[in-house]
Amino acid sequence: MSRSKSAREGTWSLASTETNPLHLFGALPRFDLIEASHVEDGIRSLIETLSCELDELEQNLEPTWAGLIEPLESMGERLGYAWGLVGHLMGVKNGDALREAHAAVQGELVVFGLRQSQSRPLLEGLETLRESDTFSILEGPQRRIIENLLREARHSGVGLAEAPRARFNEIAAELAELGTNFSNHVLDATNAFSFTITDPAEMAGIPESLLALTAQDARSHGADGASASQGPWRITLDAPVLIPFLEHGQSRQRREELYRAYVTRASTGDFDNTKIIEKILALRHEMAVLLGFESYADLSIDSKMAPSILEVENLLEELRSASMAGALGDLAALKEFAATESQSGDDSSSIGTLELWDVTFYAERLREQRFDYSEEALRPYFPLSHVLDGLFAMAKELFGVSIVDADGETSVWHEDVRFFRVLGEGGEPIAAFYLDPYSRSGQKRGGAWMDECLGRNARTQELPVAYLVCNQTPPVDGQPSQMSFDEILTLFHEFGHGLQHMLTRVDFALASGIRNIEWDAVELPSQFMENWCYHRETLLGLSRHVESGDRLPDELFEKIEAARTFRAASQMLRQIYFSSIDLALHARDLESAGEDLFSVQRRIAKTTTVMPPLDEDRFLCSFGHIFAGGYAAGYYSYKWAEVLSADAFSAFEEAGLDDAAAVAETGMRFRETVLALGGGTSPTEVFQAFRGRGPSPEALLRHSGLSPEAS
Ligand SMILES: [Zn+2]
Repeated sequence: MSRSKSAREGTWSLASTETNPLHLFGALPRFDLIEASHVEDGIRSLIETLSCELDELEQNLEPTWAGLIEPLESMGERLGYAWGLVGHLMGVKNGDALREAHAAVQGELVVFGLRQSQSRPLLEGLETLRESDTFSILEGPQRRIIENLLREARHSGVGLAEAPRARFNEIAAELAELGTNFSNHVLDATNAFSFTITDPAEMAGIPESLLALTAQDARSHGADGASASQGPWRITLDAPVLIPFLEHGQSRQRREELYRAYVTRASTGDFDNTKIIEKILALRHEMAVLLGFESYADLSIDSKMAPSILEVENLLEELRSASMAGALGDLAALKEFAATESQSGDDSSSIGTLELWDVTFYAERLREQRFDYSEEALRPYFPLSHVLDGLFAMAKELFGVSIVDADGETSVWHEDVRFFRVLGEGGEPIAAFYLDPYSRSGQKRGGAWMDECLGRNARTQELPVAYLVCNQTPPVDGQPSQMSFDEILTLFHEFGHGLQHMLTRVDFALASGIRNIEWDAVELPSQFMENWCYHRETLLGLSRHVESGDRLPDELFEKIEAARTFRAASQMLRQIYFSSIDLALHARDLESAGEDLFSVQRRIAKTTTVMPPLDEDRFLCSFGHIFAGGYAAGYYSYKWAEVLSADAFSAFEEAGLDDAAAVAETGMRFRETVLALGGGTSPTEVFQAFRGRGPSPEALLRHSGLSPEAS
């Protein structure tokens, strides 16, 4: 099979229709042609082709860039194109036929992926290439690609001798199963808990939308006549019920019941995850030791931007000590507020001691009192089209790129999807992106994301193309879509990821754009963009009231700005509590350290919480991020990347946010470093190149209202 070379000279041809549309590699996808029926044949025949190529490569590989890396790149690109399209459609145009087709071939893909990652000839080829004289004359991004491929191969256990390798594979299989069991237990335990409220007094304070949701749930569980106003209401631990209930439910007793159930999920009976966690931690430790690391945390950090566990611990400690006083202040303010509120008769009883199940409730009341704007009041100021105009104008000012409407130039998967081209200073095409802005129930996954459609590849002259997918409120009754502040933040966030994918200058597909970027650094450009939403001129520039045409009033902006730092110390401390437990559990073998799971939790809680958790708190039993997700010994990444993004934004603050020339100059430097170098250069060097120094947490603390001069 030959590679399609359809993306020459910066344009994409519309590919021919003879072949399976999943095989039109390198061309803009033919969304008008792709059907679920293309998936099984398209993916199977591709796996067959790639398996033959892999055989061929394993037998005859030359340990050179052209003889080893380019074939791997080409295989990865084709698989990424076809399977990426299937994954994309699963996210935005889901349906039974597609889901079945996806499930039918997924297992075969896993098998192929394992075969490649466990290939000894590939590992030996990479090692020979790494040691050869030609390595030193390769370009930096090429060397980094080879180093990272080697690291990945080593971490997959393929380099081990026979006996430890067999044990390694055994552990990997067992860990996969344990992770699935862990998630299933959390799900089952969540589903096993519910109570039904029949007394309207116990639903006092609950917003209309939650009354309707819980009554509907009661109906589907046998309470035929349940209504939003009269009940009964079925209360569960699902986030859309739990969170608003804890925020608004005036019944203190019901809040307590719900809170206790939540923090003890999956910790007893058939769904008890305690033993599973102990097993997971022991196996991870054994796996890391087999690979030559001291602990699983060392193994995790080996592929991160953070240079060592110690550096991560130092950062967490710096943030912890800066947040502690603020968090204690938050708590004192909340206690005082709760005492006054409960006496004013708003609550059913006087509060006495503020308990853990009161915190969310009174924090919400305090927020309402201090910042009495609702997201709904903001929406009319932010019609999508005007927000996009503002965002694109900003991209022009900061990064010198023009974004032009190109709707109709290529097919899309839904009529609401927009297509844009990105042009350089001379009008030359650089990239393109699709924007799928609105939620579509039943078809589209929740949340928001940026994904790649095509990656930049100098060899095949492909230009990058991105998908930006949001789930904002669709247009209603002929009115344009009006955005909440959160929806604007989300759009800016995904656009930031998109910029890094699209403005890359890396010539090698395996490291262009967001590819090959360390886990704890990849949120830099996305969170960086969010910062602009708190800049007065930027946000006001995005606003134009749908009826009056007015800009956002200053007083509303000031409330948004103040809400940013509301209880920021408490939130910071909570993330540090999670990050520190995660690191402590993975940094050594618990058994030989003579400490059990929950004593680690209690030990960390002593220094990272202002209200100690309940003795029976077992939140670790449902901490899916680290036991069933990709965040093991990596939960700190949230804070690590936030330090980078806040510090990057502070370069603009130092230059002067109102000095257009200085902002443009700093923007250009950001483009030429963070956005252009992508995964081709280590993130530490990239940051250094942009900032002229290493990262500092000062800006994050200041933006959170936690630096000495801010308090
Ligand atoms: Zn992100």
